[in-house]
Amino acid sequence: MTGSTPGICGGVRDDNLRWWESLLGAREGAEQTLSTLRNKPPEAAELGGGMLANYGYKNGSGDFFIAIDTDKCDGCGDCVSACPHDVFVVGEDLNDPLRDEPVAMVGEEHRKKLKYTCAPCKPDRNRPPLLCVQACKALAISHSW
Ligand code: SF4
Ligand code: SF4
Repeated sequence: MTGSTPGICGGVRDDNLRWWESLLGAREGAEQTLSTLRNKPPEAAELGGGMLANYGYKNGSGDFFIAIDTDKCDGCGDCVSACPHDVFVVGEDLNDPLRDEPVAMVGEEHRKKLKYTCAPCKPDRNRPPLLCVQACKALAISHSW
């Protein structure tokens, strides 16, 4: 008798299919995890992508982050006096204990409500240059929205 028993062939094929399905499932899971990691906004003061300190949050209505490039910031404090809502403070760089000069940060009390704190500076139409961004000669401040 030549050839294999149909029942055994079918069993092997089923096993192969299951193996491929589990492989695809694992790959999909890995891709989802990667995608989640890529989209995850950095936590406040977390360093990511160079020396950017990101402060803020993300929710259903958008991303609301202020990033401070701590390599560029020299701690001059101009952003502190320029912001009408006292968003910035200058102090010790907690992410870099060896750094000698102070650095600008977003004050703790503003980090979870930046959308609302900055709203007066960001009208829907004819948005003027942002006072904080304009004040920073080092070009260290950027906003995500
Ligand atoms: S104005 Fe710019 S350089 Fe000066 S403290 Fe603020 S972020 Fe830093
Ligand atoms: S946008 Fe206006 S309120 Fe927001 S940090 Fe800049 S100056 Fe302050």
